[in-house]
Amino acid sequence: MARPVIAIVGRPNVGKSTIFNRIIGDRLAIVEDKPGVTRDRIYGTGEWNGISFSVIDTGGIEIEGEDELIRLIRVQAELAIEEADTIIFMVDAKAGITRADEEVAQLLYRSQKPVVLAVNKVDNLQRMDDIYEFYGLGFGDPVALSGAHGTGIGDLLDAAVAKLPDAQEEEYDEDVIKVALIGRPNVGKSSLVNAILGEERVIVSNVAGTTRDAIDTPFEHDGQRYVLIDTAGMRKRGKVYETTEKYSVMRAMKAIERADVVLVVINGEEGIIDQDKHIAGYAHENGKAAVFVVNKWDVVEKDDKTMQQFTNTIRDHFLFMSYAPIVFLSALTKQRLGKLLPVVNRAAEQHAMRVPTHLLNEVVADAVAVTPPPTDKGRRLRVNYVTQVAVKPPTILIFVNEPELMHFSYERYLENKIRAAFEFEGTPLRLFTRRKS
Ligand code: GDP
Ligand code: GDP
Repeated sequence: MARPVIAIVGRPNVGKSTIFNRIIGDRLAIVEDKPGVTRDRIYGTGEWNGISFSVIDTGGIEIEGEDELIRLIRVQAELAIEEADTIIFMVDAKAGITRADEEVAQLLYRSQKPVVLAVNKVDNLQRMDDIYEFYGLGFGDPVALSGAHGTGIGDLLDAAVAKLPDAQEEEYDEDVIKVALIGRPNVGKSSLVNAILGEERVIVSNVAGTTRDAIDTPFEHDGQRYVLIDTAGMRKRGKVYETTEKYSVMRAMKAIERADVVLVVINGEEGIIDQDKHIAGYAHENGKAAVFVVNKWDVVEKDDKTMQQFTNTIRDHFLFMSYAPIVFLSALTKQRLGKLLPVVNRAAEQHAMRVPTHLLNEVVADAVAVTPPPTDKGRRLRVNYVTQVAVKPPTILIFVNEPELMHFSYERYLENKIRAAFEFEGTPLRLFTRRKS
């Protein structure tokens, strides 16, 4: 299920990134590093009262001259409006209403999206008087905050979350495998979609996704039903979406959130760059099954070691995703294409796998017998009971005497032992340590 999106919009220097950072806390932010006139656009996730959402910091604009500034603010705001479910319109109490604020307000009136007006830099009570002027912008009660002191953030999130649409219903049957293709432009995502669909019976062509961010294509292969969530094709569909090309990262994030299995497509000709890692990391964080697809294998000069070398490179770059299988293929020549869906099936199956509690406890008891848990100041960690509490991704609780005694390295050791016994190939595992004597 895709998370709703909150965008923070406003002219430069009002404190958007300060607030953004307070909202996401220590969660991972993804920076869209596109060259251009604007500062990097930053994506993150937040949670408030149990509701998770994505948040966009639309970035500042470093530019001379007011006209140019205003033109660029419009572009920024339009993009944000397009993608967001709710908008935080941020202004600066110290500066009052500026022409640029009024420009943004005009765009927001027309957008019909819910808006929360946030007046930042209300650093002390005297400043509360300054917020009244902002009623004039026409968005109702302003929320006063101070990014500097961290005050008012809760009120802001109360207001913003209250305006989010209700979570979308799940659109497909439980047994349908939802597959998202992600990767940088030009790695061959669209070609791969066409190659897969070219071989299979397409049940319905190009069903628009519930969000306008992707084209969902259901198809069937060997009795298994799938849906391909294709964000790449969107770009090629028409003009409207070209203007939102900048939001490709956001779209990839949403596609990941809806998917069971994420295909991380890599250009075999070019190798791996940081951007590949950010997006793959997002799949991992969201607990999705993942498969690396090394495309354009037809043009790679190969000998009998090339595949192993490329495998090593991927393993080095994606240390945290050692569970993800790797498929080498060519979308163009369809060479090795037949290997892909069986690997996807297996990853989906393992992602949804439930291990019986008694087997899990046997495996962990053996592991503990071989390498006893760590001690600290004479106290030893005791593992009392282990049970899997969820699937997609498999989530395992480890009940112990003293959770503080659990070390990251010991948890990793147990994960390795669990994987050695049950595999869980293609899926992340979540282990949580809880107290229970
Ligand atoms: P953005 O361009 O809208 O993303 O703004 P920034 O978050 O980069 O903030 C612009 C400047 O305002 C920085 O120097 C911040 O330290 C400062 N700032 C942010 N929030 C507050 C606040 O609540 N009070 C004051 N006095 N300054 C703030
Ligand atoms: P996307 O931006 O990730 O959707 O990439 P496209 O599918 O549009 O492909 C980008 C370019 O790479 C196009 O010129 C494709 O013809 C080419 N391409 C895609 N897959 C392959 C492949 O397996 N081998 C070769 N040689 N070229 C490919």
